[in-house]
Amino acid sequence: MMDYKAPLRDMRFLINEVLDYPSHYAALPNGADATPDMVEAILEGAATLCEEVLAPLNLSGDREGCRFENGEVSTPTGFREAYRQFVDGGWQGLSFPEAYGGQGLPASISAIKSEMMGTANWSFAMYPGLSVGCINTIVQFGSDEQKDMYLPSLVSGEWTGTMCLTEPQCGTDLGQIQTRAELADDGTYRVTGTKIFISAGEHDLTDNIIHIVLARVTGAPAGTRGISLFIVPKFLVSAAGVPGKRNDLACGSIEHKMGIRASATAVLNFDGATAFMMGEENKGLEAMFTFMNTARIGTAIQGVCHAEASFQRALQYASERRSMRALSGKKDPDFKADALIWHPDVRRMLLTQKAIAEGGRAMIYSVAKIADFLVNAVLDGDVSRQKEEDSCLGFYTPILKGFLTEMGLEAANLGMQVYGGHGYIHEHGMEQIARDARIATLYEGTTGIQALDLLGRKVLLATKGKCVRDFTLTMMKFSRGRLLQPGAIGKMARSLLKRSVEWNILTGRIMLRATKDREAVGSASVDYLMYSGFVMMAYFWALQADKASELLRSGAGRESDEFYRAKIQTAQFYFERLLPRAGSHYTSAIAPTSSVLDMDKSHFAFG
Ligand SMILES: Cc1cc2nc3c(=O)[nH]c(=O)nc-3n(C[C@H](O)[C@H](O)[C@H](O)COP(=O)(O)OP(=O)(O)OC[C@H]3O[C@@H](n4cnc5c(N)ncnc54)[C@H](O)[C@@H]3O)c2cc1C
Repeated sequence: MMDYKAPLRDMRFLINEVLDYPSHYAALPNGADATPDMVEAILEGAATLCEEVLAPLNLSGDREGCRFENGEVSTPTGFREAYRQFVDGGWQGLSFPEAYGGQGLPASISAIKSEMMGTANWSFAMYPGLSVGCINTIVQFGSDEQKDMYLPSLVSGEWTGTMCLTEPQCGTDLGQIQTRAELADDGTYRVTGTKIFISAGEHDLTDNIIHIVLARVTGAPAGTRGISLFIVPKFLVSAAGVPGKRNDLACGSIEHKMGIRASATAVLNFDGATAFMMGEENKGLEAMFTFMNTARIGTAIQGVCHAEASFQRALQYASERRSMRALSGKKDPDFKADALIWHPDVRRMLLTQKAIAEGGRAMIYSVAKIADFLVNAVLDGDVSRQKEEDSCLGFYTPILKGFLTEMGLEAANLGMQVYGGHGYIHEHGMEQIARDARIATLYEGTTGIQALDLLGRKVLLATKGKCVRDFTLTMMKFSRGRLLQPGAIGKMARSLLKRSVEWNILTGRIMLRATKDREAVGSASVDYLMYSGFVMMAYFWALQADKASELLRSGAGRESDEFYRAKIQTAQFYFERLLPRAGSHYTSAIAPTSSVLDMDKSHFAFG
């Protein structure tokens, strides 16, 4: 069984030909070193690490899982050695500031690396992945002393970090947080409380773990306005940055999970642990949400990862496994039966997976360019530019996170289906992909919460529909120039133009209804999010098809004609077979709220 092959040709097509990363990097203040040669070397190096080191540990890591004994967590066999290779290769520091030992490259390069790592082995990728949130928070809110103390070892990967938000009584509604922080005589704090579901909360990969913890200072106001942000190291760190005395916190257990079993999800008990406040008192939640958009892109990538992983294996299986004859006659006459890939329904499944993986990748790589601008604004300390970029990114992130993780799960399930009954058997790895993919729609804000964020906050409250108007304007401009083109591209352009108008009408109708019925938003939100996702992905498929068609005509492309033709065919499949689902989401989104709300709470079931 093949484990993972990095889709470098697709990645190069996107970054060089469709999205023109070279010009984007040339214009970025921190893009000078991201020359095409450097980017190519990073792609090749990351592919080698992922194919040869991380992917071979994926199935065994799932089977073995993490072990919890006497308060310590052991990661599965091979993880420590693989993590060492990751650190020695300097992979953690790729996009972090040079001042802290990073390589200072644009954030989008790290997104590509993260996709490869996550596809090869999502559980492994979560250990350094959680550190990214921790590092970003310290970069923005830490004092100079805190930055000097923690960042070099986090950026090198010698230590990892966590984000400790969730408690037993609350995950979504962080206003209910109870963990408390008491000011000590020396100006530090003592944190007491229990955090649950903390990814990478305890493990044996590094000498220290730096927890970023949300807690309430004694006497703070109730709700979200009384939450502060703290650094709580597992081992207290000397001024020289050396770990010393163990802090008063312990791992109580790790969760027994459906998937990502090699990623330790810890219960952490803080018992008067020494903590250091970051940023302003009671402004912790605000601070935590600053990098929420970039963190959500990190989880959106998971949808692409599982779609790609499942597609690669399903394609190989469908080419080798044989069953019956194609309805139109023998396709593999030298064999007793034709390969699965000849059957239209198997092709439908494979093309759906391919369309999700490659369409999702285009969405992520495009939005990663906005993340590059945002990170630069943060590093420059330019607050107004930062707000501008963040609000632009803020429109895309709930769509990418919600839609791509839902579609990644669908692709993972289809991969199992292509394998038939064998998909349900552990050693083929297909059921693991489906189990691993399941968490992506839950953490970092569930799909329901992403949908409320998109429709309620971003579309209606913050911009009164302007963010949709802006995006659809881009779609319209693209379409108008291609409406009269013969063949596939003209057809896609006409379809996109229709959807651009329709998306605005849908937004307007919900906006109108919401003025009279407050529940209209919550009742329509997930359908609205899925509608937006299908239409946005259509745009990114049209972009790819258009570029492929142009390069086929000019002969100036770096890829083969077959590659470009397959791009256009996949785009056609998307427009004809997947985009129509937007229509049913439209219908559901504007359906009366009464069918959701009228049933009495006590009438949901009759025992
Ligand atoms: C494997 C794993 C790893 C995790 N890693 C971390 C981590 O590293 N750090 C961390 O802090 N947390 C972590 N989490 C926690 C995760 O982020 C939360 O589980 C998630 O945010 C949902 O919170 P909850 O489980 O409390 O669900 P709830 O908030 O109880 O939600 C339950 C359901 O109700 C819906 N719902 C809730 N409120 C509303 C509303 N107002 N309107 C409409 N629907 C609503 C939700 O969409 C959901 O479907 C992890 C969880 C898991 C399982």
